[in-house]
Amino acid sequence: MTPLERALRERIAADGPMTVEAYMEACNNYYYATRDPLGARGDFTTAPEISQIFGELVGAALADCWKRAGAPADAIYAELGPGRGTLASDALRVMRGAGFRGEVHLIETSPHLRDLQEQALPGAHWHERLDALPARPLLLVANEFLDALPIRQQVGGIERRVLVAAGGLAFDRDGEIVETSPARDEAVASIGTCLAAKGGAAIFIDYGHERSAPGDTLQAVRGHRYAAVLADPGEQDLTSHVDFQAVANAARAAGAIATDVVTQGEWLIRLGIEARAQALSRANPDRAEALHAAVNRLTSSHQMGSLFKVIAIHSPGWPAAAGFA
Ligand code: SAH
Repeated sequence: MTPLERALRERIAADGPMTVEAYMEACNNYYYATRDPLGARGDFTTAPEISQIFGELVGAALADCWKRAGAPADAIYAELGPGRGTLASDALRVMRGAGFRGEVHLIETSPHLRDLQEQALPGAHWHERLDALPARPLLLVANEFLDALPIRQQVGGIERRVLVAAGGLAFDRDGEIVETSPARDEAVASIGTCLAAKGGAAIFIDYGHERSAPGDTLQAVRGHRYAAVLADPGEQDLTSHVDFQAVANAARAAGAIATDVVTQGEWLIRLGIEARAQALSRANPDRAEALHAAVNRLTSSHQMGSLFKVIAIHSPGWPAAAGFA
């Protein structure tokens, strides 16, 4: 039994069955605080870890927004759940090249990942909570952040819970599941409020669906394989598909403007991933094959290209990020 499972069983014995939301929150807090989950030897690989081009194109999109908004000197780069800091490093290299000199603010709860980020991004500022971001124009990105925030599951309008049965953890009910995520709505609303007040643009990339729909999307990943959601709590990544319609609604309710949702593949192609890969291949012919494979992994609909979606939100006074309809 994992250390967290022991603690959760005690909690359930004392307080009764726990909601899926509380279970997911407890598992991911423990999971991210105790390891670097990324890469071949970890549990999963994210887009910025596949190729530097991903972060470079995000940086180019943010730099372009910033310039078209008049290049405000007080704007900051902000990122939610920056992992190893790879996306920020690649994005900021491009943004610095475009003249951006702003501070770097990172939202990260995991002390372990914060250490890795400090090595990649010396001089950055860290915060545990979104509401600690300074009141300045934002150039913000979040890749695979929203999917890790806890969701609620309801069956027939009744909260789904986790209990101990037959010696193991089990769900208290099955049936058609409706998922919502107050934590995600709150995170997006908080960014939308900052944008509406101080200006800026934010890009959210994650796997999920464009329209709200019922269905159970909670999943566990460990060692690059799917695992049972209730097995080994705290030792595997728990995520669920992001409802991009709910993201757009939360942003709009906070006074920001949301773009259409586009697939990651389409967005990266519109931003010029192929030309960038060709330029890098010409400069490093021995890397051409690996670059081609990386572009394929990021854009192909058989890989990440279609499942992953992108939405941008911005303040009424700022332009929409490039790559959206
Ligand atoms: N964006 C990175 C890492 C994705 S993994 C990449 O693309 O490689 C999810 C990240 O979100 C990790 O850095 C994790 O520690 C962080 N995270 C998860 N839940 C969080 C929360 N509630 N608040 C802040 N950060 C969180």
